[in-house]
Amino acid sequence: MKINHLGIAVKSLEESLKFYQETLGLSISGREIVADQGVEIAMLPIGESRVELLQAIDPSSPIARFIEKRGAGIHHICIEVDDIVAKLAEMKADGIQLIDEQPKPGAGGHLIAFVHPKSTAGVLIELVQKTEGDSLEY
Ligand code: ZN
Repeated sequence: MKINHLGIAVKSLEESLKFYQETLGLSISGREIVADQGVEIAMLPIGESRVELLQAIDPSSPIARFIEKRGAGIHHICIEVDDIVAKLAEMKADGIQLIDEQPKPGAGGHLIAFVHPKSTAGVLIELVQKTEGDSLEY
């Protein structure tokens, strides 16, 4: 198991990229609009992991609500799992509160699901399915 990426809610991708790209020297491995979640994301590999910057593209997006309540900052931690369907079923059986009981396509087309912070000591956890031959670089 490893951390695939850290999700950081930002007000402006362009503004934030000045630090992550220019100051830290990271490169973007992928950038896309995930309409389903109302966000535009930029993925920047760092070591074996990545930083995912998320900017809301509409006011009803969970990222917009997050920033409104808490300001910009760490939004979620994404953990790679071998079998996301099995992991979700296992968690559900254990009484873990899930936001997504079934996986859905996320950034890069990977299968993802969110676990509610109430069950994780206050941190939104994203699970991503690890697939054979896909390094999940993006
Ligand atoms: Zn993420």
